[in-house]
Amino acid sequence: MEFMWVFLIVLLSLLAGPTPILSDSSLSSNGFSEIPKKLLTLAQKPELFEWMVGIRRKIHENPELGYEEFETSKLIRAELDKMGVAYKYPVAVTGVVGSIGTGKPPFVAIRADMDALAMQEMVEWEHKSKIPGKMHGCGHDAHVAMLLGAAKILKEHEKDLQGTIVLVFQPAEEGGGGAKKVLDAGALQNVTAIFGLHVAHHIPLAEVASRPGPFFAGSGFFEATISGKGGHAALPHHAVDPILAVSNVIGSLQHIVSREVDPLDSQVVTVGKVQGGEAFNVIPDSVTIGGTFRAFSKETLLQLKQRIAKVITGQAAVQRCNATVNFFEDEKPLFPPTVNHKELHKHFQNVAGDMLGTHRVKDHQPLMGSEDFAYYQEAIPGFFFFLGMKDDRLGYLDTPHSPYFRINEDALPYGAALHASLAVRYLIETQLEVPLPEQQNRDEL
Ligand SMILES: [Zn+2]
Ligand SMILES: [Zn+2]
Repeated sequence: MEFMWVFLIVLLSLLAGPTPILSDSSLSSNGFSEIPKKLLTLAQKPELFEWMVGIRRKIHENPELGYEEFETSKLIRAELDKMGVAYKYPVAVTGVVGSIGTGKPPFVAIRADMDALAMQEMVEWEHKSKIPGKMHGCGHDAHVAMLLGAAKILKEHEKDLQGTIVLVFQPAEEGGGGAKKVLDAGALQNVTAIFGLHVAHHIPLAEVASRPGPFFAGSGFFEATISGKGGHAALPHHAVDPILAVSNVIGSLQHIVSREVDPLDSQVVTVGKVQGGEAFNVIPDSVTIGGTFRAFSKETLLQLKQRIAKVITGQAAVQRCNATVNFFEDEKPLFPPTVNHKELHKHFQNVAGDMLGTHRVKDHQPLMGSEDFAYYQEAIPGFFFFLGMKDDRLGYLDTPHSPYFRINEDALPYGAALHASLAVRYLIETQLEVPLPEQQNRDEL
């Protein structure tokens, strides 16, 4: 009989689930659905908000390009040191991967990118970029500040976490494939879900938007040199004209999407660069073109790549020219499409809905832009979403990659709180889903 009682007590304690998360007196009641709101309240406290704003402005003043984020990385590590958060460094050259929690499964990751763009800032303000020709024109300075904000809140409630939260400060999102390098370094082993966000100029503040399945397109780049034989412009019969060949190549490239692809399957081929010829009266030896192609599945991306190579070489041959095509496989590998995990989308809707109200959690159309978060999603279930910044008080906010791009810093607490809430609730829900470890029960008895 006594044996039965012990068994029942152990069983009941296991069924009761984990102890309340964030048991801080202000955070203990009302169950899990209240957690996101409470975390938002913490993130909006003036001390934390101003601290995040300070970090963001500091990074904004000193933008660094992909794999050169040494000062940014140093700043991140200094802040993690102050919080007492353990981390791995270097990961993928300048990356920092921290962890908060029990050090045991489940493991969930939240990610921020750190790199700036090679462009001149045109916004005149107190914290304008101090580096000529470099600018945080995509908001990654804000992403870093938000993830540090989340780290600070989570560290303060570490004892309540039901697993481990992995903080990924990733280099080189802008075309450098930093995400792939972080994965290749083995920094995300045992992680079963990853969340990422991007600030969005077109979505109102305090709103978020995303979709399940394909969200951003995969992309690739190409460059081709079409070679003929230079000569006098007045004697075309003595030359082989690469300019005419290129004009046919460009026209034919546009026929791939318009004639070979299902009109309901969005794809893009754009030639963004044409270089050739120097004089009015000279036929040049060669012309170089370059561009990008986009699609929503890896297969269609590979098909596009194959057809682009064939069309360029074939069309050049029609005009008696030779062509070489380069897809930069080493420096700019094909970006896979960003495909959101369906279950994690539901998780996002629940968590963001609890924080902001379901009417502020919007569906978003797929976009032809690319995001290297997609590499994580190839390896582990992942979810990516837009965080709204639009606010009439600030006037029109320019698009990312514009020299006039601005951040609405009021979005920082939302980003920090969403990072923290998505991770905390994922850990709780995953723990609740885990079937009772029968073998372990017997051992305990
Ligand atoms: Zn960007
Ligand atoms: Zn970006």
